[in-house]
Amino acid sequence: AYGGLCQRAWVEIDLAALGHNVRQLKSILSPQTALMAVVKADAYGHGAVTVARTVLQNGASWLGVATIPEGIELREAGIEAPILILGATHTPEQIRAIAYWKLQPTICTPQQALAFSETLSVSNLTLPVHIKLDTGMSRLGTSWQQAAEFVQLVNTLPNLQIASIYSHLATADSPDPTVMKQQQQRYEDAIAQIKSLGLPSTQLHLANSAAILSSPTLHYDMVRAGLATYGLYPAEHLQRVVELKPVMQVKARVTQVKTITAGTGVSYGYQFVADRDMRLAVVGIGYADGVPRNLSHKMKVAIRGQLVRQVGAITMDQLMLDVSDLPDLQVGEVVTLLGKDGDIQILADDWAASLGTISWEILCSFKHRLPRVAV
Ligand code: PLP
Repeated sequence: AYGGLCQRAWVEIDLAALGHNVRQLKSILSPQTALMAVVKADAYGHGAVTVARTVLQNGASWLGVATIPEGIELREAGIEAPILILGATHTPEQIRAIAYWKLQPTICTPQQALAFSETLSVSNLTLPVHIKLDTGMSRLGTSWQQAAEFVQLVNTLPNLQIASIYSHLATADSPDPTVMKQQQQRYEDAIAQIKSLGLPSTQLHLANSAAILSSPTLHYDMVRAGLATYGLYPAEHLQRVVELKPVMQVKARVTQVKTITAGTGVSYGYQFVADRDMRLAVVGIGYADGVPRNLSHKMKVAIRGQLVRQVGAITMDQLMLDVSDLPDLQVGEVVTLLGKDGDIQILADDWAASLGTISWEILCSFKHRLPRVAV
C-alpha cells in the first residue's frame, strides 16, 4: 500500500480520528466558545496543512502557530482561517510579512506594540493583535499586574486593533489545581480592571488541552487545543470527559530476518548478547527517523498483533527485534512502533514514561525522512 520509495518506514495520520477528536472537543464547549487548533511544529509532527484542513472541516475555526513561516505555509496552501502566531515577532520585516499574509500577532511588550504601530502606519494598514498576559507561566507576556496599563497603551496606538487578551497556564495538567486557580484569578482580576477603564471588550482565551478537559469555567470565548486534538490525554488523572483517538501511528517494515546463536552480540557496543539461539528481525527505522536511542532495550513493538521486544542499541537507520516467537516472519511485514495492532495499543505516553519526558515531545520528534501518509 505504501509503494514507491518510502517503503521502509512511515507515519500514518488517521484523519477520521482527527476529525472525531475535534468534534468531541467541540461537544464540550458552549456554542459561543470557538476552538483554536494548535498546529505549530508541523501540527505536533502530524503535518500542518493536512491537519489544518481536517480540523477546520470538523469545527475548529482558528489555527495557532508558533512562527511566521508556519503561518505562511498554511496560507500558501490556500487556508483562509484566522491564524494566531503564539510566538513573539518584532522586526519591521516580520511585521510586514504578518500583514502581507494576513496573520495575527501576539503582542507582549510596549516596545513590540510601538514597533507594530510604527511599521504598519507606513503602509496605513490596521492589524488585529492579541495581547498576551503573563499570569504565572513566566514565559511570554506582560505581567498581569501591568495588564490594564498595557492594554490602555495598545488601545491608543494607531493601526492596531485589539482582537483578544489571552494567557497560558503552567500547571493545567497537574492533579493539584492551586496554581491553575491562582493564574485564573490573576487573569480575571486583570480583565476586570481592563473593563473598569471602559476599554472595548475583546475575546478572552486561557485554556490548553488539560484546561479544556478540566473545567468549563476555563473555556471563555475560545480554547486552544493542541495535544487533545491529536488524540492524547494530557494527564492520567484527567477524567475521560471525551473519547479521544490517537491520530499518529509509526510503522516500519522488516528488512531482514536471521537466526543468531547463543553468545552472539547484537548492534553497536554489544549491549545485548543472545543467551540462546534466537530469531532476529532487522527493521528499517532508527534514531535519525525519531526513534529515541535511549529506548534501546526498553521498547516493545507490535507485529501481527503480538508484542515483540527490541534488542541491541537502536542505530541511526535500523533497529533489531527478538522475533523468536514468530518463526515464519517474512521480510516486508509491518512493525507498529506507535499505534494499534490487533488488541495492542502503543502510545506516545508509553515512550514518554520510559524516557522521563512528555508525549508532546515524542509526537514532535519524528523527522521528515518519514513520509506522513493520510489514512
Ligand atoms: N496555547 C499556547 C500558548 C501554547 O503554547 C500551547 C502549546 O504548547 C497550547 C496552547 C496547546 O497546548 P496543549 O498541547 O497542551 O493543548
